[in-house]
Amino acid sequence: MSRFWSPIVHSLIPYVAGEQPATGGIIKLNTNESPYGPSPLALEAISKATSDTLRLYPDPTARELRVTIAESFGLDKDEVFVGNGSDEVLAHTFQALLNHDEPLLFPDISYSFYPTYCRLFGVAYRQIPVDAEMRVRLEDYRQPCGAIILPNPNAPTGIGLPLTDIKTLLRDHPDQVVVIDEAYVDFGGESAVPLVRTYPNLLVIQTLSKSRGLAGLRVGFAVGQRPLIEALERVKDSFNSYPLDRLAQAGAVAAWKDRDWFERHRAMIIASRERLAAELGDLGFHVLPSSANFLFARHPSRPGVELAAELRSRNILVRRFSAERIDDFLRITIGTDEECDRLVAALGEILQ
Ligand code: PMP
Repeated sequence: MSRFWSPIVHSLIPYVAGEQPATGGIIKLNTNESPYGPSPLALEAISKATSDTLRLYPDPTARELRVTIAESFGLDKDEVFVGNGSDEVLAHTFQALLNHDEPLLFPDISYSFYPTYCRLFGVAYRQIPVDAEMRVRLEDYRQPCGAIILPNPNAPTGIGLPLTDIKTLLRDHPDQVVVIDEAYVDFGGESAVPLVRTYPNLLVIQTLSKSRGLAGLRVGFAVGQRPLIEALERVKDSFNSYPLDRLAQAGAVAAWKDRDWFERHRAMIIASRERLAAELGDLGFHVLPSSANFLFARHPSRPGVELAAELRSRNILVRRFSAERIDDFLRITIGTDEECDRLVAALGEILQ
């Protein structure tokens, strides 16, 4: 440890992102990217922005993107906050809205960035155990708290909560902010965005990384009533007034507007997911019900660490977590049908 470090750095346990291999020829099912990439219209817009305007600073308010997203939800642009991936939007949210004297609540099995942000920003937190089926149990959240954050669908389980449950949570905690992280909602989850105008304590966070195929562009956003969005803007403007570059703004606007491309590709991913879930089931895997673009699955007779290593040696990457209760699970991103077929064939061989 360096004597030059500030005191807080010593206690940080940084989040470790999934592997991005430098070589080609790998079937990459480890970080929940889209196997199809973005709309061609997004690529065109990025290319145009590259040649036309890269000399200039970007619009610090990302007005066009906020208007585009807001209009699609029947909201006002001041009810939308955009950032450099939903990870950054989450970071600002932890600072601006989730730091209170009472602990922030979130499931013990959920996005592993949450405890990292808590430590970075000094947020007190309590992790609420999911049940034996890995489901979030609402009644466990009926306790004094500073705020609540839930991924819906949850990650890495893929299990979705119905909107009625989200409403119950919002009503149970009228004086606390409830953040719903909807990174995976487009693959069969129920979005809480339509509740934003009704509940002043609701903030919904989404990303263009998954269903819009733009993980490399880094665009995420939050929607909520103005006081919440204003809090996020205050933190952003105290940190980096240009979080989204010109290419990201241009590409995100075009991607968001290409509804056809979006609908077609998310339907393809959902269909592939159902097929892969059935095939993994045939191989003896226990597969959790998923509303996301990944499956969370465990084989009763082979440790996850072994399976992941065997797949790795066949150039197939999946994600594994070492946390208790889930260390035997593989989180498998839905690839193209051909990639899924190769995964199933490899697992068939390994399990023989
Ligand atoms: N929330 C959840 C639950 C996620 O799994 C991820 C992806 N790792 C993110 C947010 C962040 O996605 P991005 O920063 O690419 O928008």
